Formats: sequence, C-alpha cells, structure tokens
Amino acid sequence: MAKATRRSFIRNTAVVGASNLLGVVGVSGFAGADFDVVILGAGMAGLTAARILAKVGPGLKVLVLEARDRVGGRMFTSTDVSVHGVELGAQVIHGSRAESWELIREYGLQTRSLDAGGATESYHFLPGQPPYKPNQADLDALYHKVVVKHAKYDGPDMSYQAFLETMSFNDTQRSALGAEALSWSSEPGEVSARAVIDDGVAWDAYHDEDFQIIGGHSLLAEKMANELEGKIQLSCAVAGLYWRSGVAGVTYIYNLQSQTVTAKRLIITLPVGVLQSQQIEVLPPFPDWKKQSIDSLQMGQAVVVAMLFNAPFWSDLASGPVSWATPDGRMQFWAAHTPGEGAAAITGWFVGSAAQQLSDLGGQEGMQQVLHWLEGISGKTRLQEKLKWHRYQDWVSDPFSLGSYSFTRPGGQGAREILARPIEKTLYFAGEATAPAPHYQTVHGAYMSGKRVAQEVSDSLDIYAEDKAILDALF
Ligand SMILES: Cc1cc2nc3c(=O)[nH]c(=O)nc-3n(C[C@H](O)[C@H](O)[C@H](O)COP(=O)(O)OP(=O)(O)OC[C@H]3O[C@@H](n4cnc5c(N)ncnc54)[C@H](O)[C@@H]3O)c2cc1C
Repeated sequence: MAKATRRSFIRNTAVVGASNLLGVVGVSGFAGADFDVVILGAGMAGLTAARILAKVGPGLKVLVLEARDRVGGRMFTSTDVSVHGVELGAQVIHGSRAESWELIREYGLQTRSLDAGGATESYHFLPGQPPYKPNQADLDALYHKVVVKHAKYDGPDMSYQAFLETMSFNDTQRSALGAEALSWSSEPGEVSARAVIDDGVAWDAYHDEDFQIIGGHSLLAEKMANELEGKIQLSCAVAGLYWRSGVAGVTYIYNLQSQTVTAKRLIITLPVGVLQSQQIEVLPPFPDWKKQSIDSLQMGQAVVVAMLFNAPFWSDLASGPVSWATPDGRMQFWAAHTPGEGAAAITGWFVGSAAQQLSDLGGQEGMQQVLHWLEGISGKTRLQEKLKWHRYQDWVSDPFSLGSYSFTRPGGQGAREILARPIEKTLYFAGEATAPAPHYQTVHGAYMSGKRVAQEVSDSLDIYAEDKAILDALF
C-alpha cells in the first residue's frame, strides 16, 4: 500500500496540479492502484457492496475504510443489558417485502413482528400535562384533505409547512399535521411538500408490518464483516479524495497518522451530512450536477434515549405496550413490553427541533430534561432514582453521520437518482440517500443501493479489463 503523509500529498499536488496528482504518487514508487475498489463507509451500503464484489470477483482487491471503531454505521445495537439488543440506531425492518429480508434469511437471524406483543396503546401528551387519547380518525381525515389537495396541485414544490399554510387549518391542526413531516425526522418548514406527501403515499402502498431482529441490527453488520475478514480497516477517518478518470486516491487518518491508498474505483457511501460538511477535501471538486444533488437533500435530526428502570412505574397507566407522543411528532416515548412481562424499558425518540434542543443540552443535562418530560407524563417523581441504565445516542452531533437520515428539500425531486450516478466510471455512490422513494431513510434502502453499486462497479471493471493495457500505460 502506498503511504504518504497528507501534507506531502497536497504539497505535491500544488506543484504539479491535480491532473497529475496520481502520477506524482508514482514517482515515489507507485506502480498501479493499490486496490481495485476502495469503499468509504462500513454501514449497510458499504458492507453490502464489499461482500458482493468480493464474491463476484474473488481476485478483486477490495478495501473498506471506516471512521468508527465498529462496523454498522447507523445500525447500532447495544447489548450492555440485554442479549436481545437495544437499538440505538435503526430500530425495525420496515415491511414484509423489504429487500434486506434476503440477507436476514441467509444468515438465519431470528425476527419478531412488532404486532406480536399486542396492539400498542397510543397517547398524546403536551410537556407538563397528563396524556390523553388522540382522536385518530379526525387526524386521518384532516391529513386526507392535505393529500387530496396536493394531488390536484401542479405548481412548484414548496416546503410542507408552506403547503399546509395554503389551507384553512387552525394552529393546533397545522401542528398535528406537521407530525407527518416529523415522521421523516424533518422539520415541516425544511422538507419538500411533494416528498412528504407523494413519498408518503408510496410508503403507505409499500409498507405493511414492522419487525425486529432478535439480537439487533448490528448482528447483520457483524455477519457481513466476518465474511470480509482482512478487507475492512476501522478507525480510518477519510480526510481527502483526489481523483482523475480511472483512478482515485484517498487520504485518511489512522492512529493520528495520515495515510494514502489508491484505487481504480471508489465507492462513496458516506451520509449526506458528511458529504455536505467540509471535513473531506475533494480534488478536483465534484462536478456541479453532483454538488446540486447533495445540496438538494438534508439530514434529519434524531436523538434516541434507551432507558431501563427498576420496575415498570407506568403499569397503572397501561396494561400492555404503550406509547406517548406529542401531537406535533417531535417527541415520543414507548414501552414495548407489557408491564411485568419484559424488561422495564422505555425508549425516548426525539426528532427535528426537539432533537436539536437535546443535542445542544448534551448528554447529562439532556438526560435530566428527558426524565423531566417522562415525569410529566407519568405523574411520578424522582425517576432518576428508578433509572438503572441508559444510553443517550445523539445522531445530530455524531461526526460520522451528522444527522439521522436524508430528507428531500423543496424542489429536490430527482436528486437521489442523480446522487446515485457515477462520475467518470471512477467515483461511485451508494447509501440510503441514493435509494429511490419510498426506500430512502431505511436499512433496506441502503442494502438496495449497495447491490446496485456493486453491479455498476463490477460492470465497469469488465470494461476496465478490456482496456487494461491502455489504462496500465497511464500508471
Ligand atoms: C435513530 C435512527 C433510527 C433509524 N431507524 C430505522 C428503522 O427503524 N428502520 C430502517 O430501516 N432504518 C432506520 N434508520 C436508517 C438506517 O439506519 C440507515 O438508513 C442505514 O443504516 C444507512 O446505511 P448507510 O450504509 O447508507 O449509511 P451509514 O450506516 O451511515 O454508513 C456510512 C458509514 O460511513 C462512515 N463514515 C462517515 N464519515 C466517514 C469518514 N470521514 N471516513 C470514513 N468513514 C466514514 C460512518 O461511520 C458509517 O459507518 C434509522 C437511523 C437512525 C439514525
């Protein structure tokens, strides 16, 4: 593997210009790309692509670079207190037809339907006020009006909030209808109305049941990683991409040292939040059409708080699984077990501005705020003393995610398809943000994108093989 410090890499670039960049590496002993394919990110998309490529072409040299000290990315299960796993990232398999079932079945993982524990009693609450039963039929009827009006609307896209304001709802109704946007972890004023409503209709047509993986989503990542032994490097935060047609160089920081690796094909599965941040230098920069597709999307915000109590203090409020949500959808608590039958566990789920608020408070103060909200719902006090264990997972400030999952900004239709397109048969893109509606934002969408990109890259390497002599001359 060619090794160079990032500084020397950049200094050389400045002298000879980016177009000669990879030739300069050759001067210091570089005789060809180190790898056929380098994949950035060991989440569902990256692991899927690596696994397929390793199978399709056993002779292919494939490397996955991952910034974290674990695989899985936004699939992140804690097994601190339960072998069944506590999901801090992806929670459920959405739908009996999710494409990722083929992987789950291949690995023989056990699952359970979320309907198996009995229907969840759903309440609404406002912070500091006792919970109440929402009138779901009224809410559905209101939302139906929005869908009908939007189906007849053929003007330019706007934010979902702006679209709601074209209709004669009162503030309470508008806030409750905003929950539809928050279910994509996006603020109503930031997300495209077309995406919320049209993709929501597509989602409803696709989605039936939700399932959990016993042992958690991290099992999936670990099983895939086991098949890729020696091909994944953890704790390698990518800092720069340098490319020209047919070859790309990547600099990354490992153990406080800057290192470089080159590849004939690069697969980028980094979350949109990371692509939008300035943390990775790209030379030459992505073309404008690619930058526009990245800027047409945005990361939602989510904070997940898993809590285990010494007893189900809510047993006088609910006889089975229960959830409490604010009508605007920004906060949710749920207890998945019937009191007394499973762990005395509650998950807190905070999206949009509520997630930002908790992220700004930080883990310690944020936790006090979460318990305070829970005290308001339950009417119990001093929940801190009943708390046995908790995990506070802030995806908003997570540097390798910078948000929960991608939503579409107003006018951003088509961006995902463009984001998925390769650049000069050299830079390839995958990840949940590149999945088509209604599968973006999901594990199975990331899986689909990993399969797609593996196909694209293996096709391109066949072309590469035909032209190998010509391309070899370039190195
Ligand atoms: C709170 C939460 C709940 C969710 N719930 C569900 C659910 O119930 N069902 C569902 O289907 N989906 C759910 N999702 C979404 C799902 O987790 C994601 O869509 C999916 O896991 C994304 O996979 P990916 O490979 O595209 O991205 P990621 O998993 O984010 O993988 C990208 C990888 O790139 C790495 N990386 C980032 N920066 C760098 C860098 N500079 N250098 C090297 N590596 C880097 C990251 O560490 C990460 O491992 C949820 C997500 C969150 C956050």
